[in-house]
Amino acid sequence: MDDQLTALTELLRELPGIGPRAARRLAYWFVRRDRTWIDRFVRVLSDAHRTVRTCTSCMRMFPGREGMDRCSICTNEQRDKHLLLVVEKDVDLENIERTGAYKGFYFVLGGTVSALDKDPDHKIRINELEARLKGADHELTELILALSATTEGEETAFFIGDRVRSIADQRRITVTTLGRGLSTGTELEYVDTDTMTNALQGRK
Ligand SMILES: [Zn+2]
Repeated sequence: MDDQLTALTELLRELPGIGPRAARRLAYWFVRRDRTWIDRFVRVLSDAHRTVRTCTSCMRMFPGREGMDRCSICTNEQRDKHLLLVVEKDVDLENIERTGAYKGFYFVLGGTVSALDKDPDHKIRINELEARLKGADHELTELILALSATTEGEETAFFIGDRVRSIADQRRITVTTLGRGLSTGTELEYVDTDTMTNALQGRK
């Protein structure tokens, strides 16, 4: 019994933000669930793991069939090819999409960097973003940095602006940021349609 509990605890410790005590508590919690719930959990987890993949173009997670490597946004021919909007995380993209205020394409950075970071290239997908810009359709004319109006968001925007400047110049892509329709500290994942529309109109 204890061997199995220890094995489960060790696995749970690998979850983000879970320390040894929390892992032990979770292990006890799991083994007390009934059999039906456990079967369902295993099935749902396995299905999600099998079908949810990372879009090779915008880097967001999406549910797709075998062999699909780009999401429904990236393969949508109706979208505005002039615009590429950079967000920190998947939920920011989902929320901007829900506002309906933006019709271009996206790129999910996967995090933020601060001015003090020693190895920023491994914290965000800056190399992937550079590759995306190098391989971009000639129709792309604007890269919009839509990061949260927080210190980290601003430092990340500054870092990206600096890194992509030469490729952007070569390819005549303008780099803009969202207008201050977003008040300081506003997280993009909570933004509503009016604020997003204003922020897009006020971009500079
Ligand atoms: Zn995509």
